[in-house]
Amino acid sequence: MKLPEPNRPMVRFMNVSKSYGALTVINNLNFEVAEGEMVSIIGPSGSGKTTVLRILMTLEAINEGVIYVDGKPLTHMPKGGKLVPANEKYLRGMRSSIGMCFQHFNLFPHMTALQNCMEGPVQVLGLSKSEARVRAEELLTMVGLIDKKDEHPSRLSGGQQQRVAIARALAMRPKVMLFDEVTSALDPEVIGEVTNVIRKLVQEYRLTMLMVTHQMGFARDISDRVCFFYGGKIEEQGPPQELFTRPQRERTKQFLSAIK
Ligand code: ADP
Repeated sequence: MKLPEPNRPMVRFMNVSKSYGALTVINNLNFEVAEGEMVSIIGPSGSGKTTVLRILMTLEAINEGVIYVDGKPLTHMPKGGKLVPANEKYLRGMRSSIGMCFQHFNLFPHMTALQNCMEGPVQVLGLSKSEARVRAEELLTMVGLIDKKDEHPSRLSGGQQQRVAIARALAMRPKVMLFDEVTSALDPEVIGEVTNVIRKLVQEYRLTMLMVTHQMGFARDISDRVCFFYGGKIEEQGPPQELFTRPQRERTKQFLSAIK
């Protein structure tokens, strides 16, 4: 895998706002994630963390601002020298550059682990079945599940299903991976096997990643930067060792002391 160029923004939110009726959920957000950077988003419930990921997945439209992924507009498309709101066809083209894993893994229940990982590359990227199989087997090996490749999801534990879900998302070769509370529906004894896969993606692959988590120890351990969200904005951000040990803002201090 090619090494990332240092500090080139892979994701850029510029003056982004999102509201539902009168409720402003994302409030004039400016935010960047560099190529190869691992950023964790923490913050109280309702602060807009999941919305940031849903916007990046193009599951939610924004009201103001523009977002770029790898230098290309995500929410808008260039037309006649201007940016206009993206249409569905343009969005489809951009969507495969973003991979996402959710709290609930949503694997295709009627397909084996291997078929789950082959489906997107064959149907969306147009890979041949044999190319998709090689890629899927490599990724199932990476997440430690090659021996389970012919099992259906119902025969796998929650932690194993989540690892298949990660392999499935990676099979699309996304430029950015998003993780939304991927361990919160898991039994405590299997959380480690999932966090270890994410750790491997950070340490060995330097994938650009954005993770929403309540697991402060994990965020502290693997992130390059932690962003504390409050009221749809970044209240405070910094390297984990600074943000967790010397928070500057009152709201960050309150949040961190309440969850300890
Ligand atoms: P977090 O992930 O930080 O808990 P969310 O991004 O899920 O926060 O939600 C931010 C706010 O947006 C919350 O107040 C939530 O109730 C509201 N919200 C999220 N989705 C919708 C929706 N589809 N319609 C109306 N309000 C929504």
